[in-house]
Amino acid sequence: MTDSPDKKDTLLSGKAALAGVIGFPVSHSKSPRLHGYWLRAYGIDGAYLPLSVAPDDLGTAVKGLQAAGFRGANVTVPHKEAVMAFCDEIDPLAQRIGAVNTLVFREDGKIHGSNTDGIGFLENLRQGSSLDFHGLRVGVLGAGGAARGILVALQHAGVSQIKLTNRTASRAEKLAEDLNNSRENAEAGLITVIDWDQKDRVLENCDLLINTTSLGMEGQPPLDLDFSALPENAVVTDIVYAPLITPLLAAAREKGYRIVDGLGMLLHQACPGFRAWFGREPEVTEALRRTVLGGETADREV
Ligand code: NAP
Repeated sequence: MTDSPDKKDTLLSGKAALAGVIGFPVSHSKSPRLHGYWLRAYGIDGAYLPLSVAPDDLGTAVKGLQAAGFRGANVTVPHKEAVMAFCDEIDPLAQRIGAVNTLVFREDGKIHGSNTDGIGFLENLRQGSSLDFHGLRVGVLGAGGAARGILVALQHAGVSQIKLTNRTASRAEKLAEDLNNSRENAEAGLITVIDWDQKDRVLENCDLLINTTSLGMEGQPPLDLDFSALPENAVVTDIVYAPLITPLLAAAREKGYRIVDGLGMLLHQACPGFRAWFGREPEVTEALRRTVLGGETADREV
């Protein structure tokens, strides 16, 4: 792929393929920039738009986009759960996560919902660290919406143990109960919940440490951890990508751990939608990372 997408810039025709991201608010979304980069890089006759939709208007907007000939849409906060009611088919992974982030409007009129967040998370780690997930021991901080998708993906990838902690214990317990009770983990009890005030225990015997809380995000306090129990060959990743190197990643790097930043998760989760709507497998490159960050240094770690 070229590093200069402008070279293949194309004007829209009457047949342009259309997609977008539905959110509320949506002005913070990096998805229009990301898909816009690929559309220009590949010279595709198409457009991807930010679509600000208030919760009460969600059904009208989804049906309206379909009626207007859109190929589909991404769905972001706060609509990921509510949009499931407007899907005709939901893939099994999204069913288990309980949230949809990608809609495809099929030619037969059916609306298909999937969830690519967990796939994006795994692909980012595969590209950034060459980790083999099978048998991996994982520590997870946070039990919000993003954690749910990541935990389901980790289960599918064959990890052997997940230690989970969250400030609000009931949320972690609910998540562990939902996933431990799923059919494929019935005998395993894969997820163990640790109290937040003992969160450093998550690092014991851990091969992969993941922050899924919003701690460390711009405007939020940092996530402070005592790394002394973390094995020296562990990988540390943070799904917060603003800033790209969070205080957690900076501290882990300082102590010699391999780190993977969270931007790639955003980029990789976008690939299945782009392929479905615009008919081309997109690539995640350094030039894309730089473009999405808007010029911020985007060197990969690990
Ligand atoms: P969410 O559902 O609102 O969950 C927020 C999580 O952060 C919860 O576990 C919450 O704990 C915890 N938290 C918030 N403030 C805290 C504090 N002061 N102390 C301790 N824990 C705190 O949000 P989400 O959708 O899961 O997103 C979480 C973060 O991931 C956000 O920063 C988001 O931008 C980022 N993200 C990145 C990607 C990516 O592609 N890289 C994708 C999705 C999300 P409680 O349950 O106790 O409130």
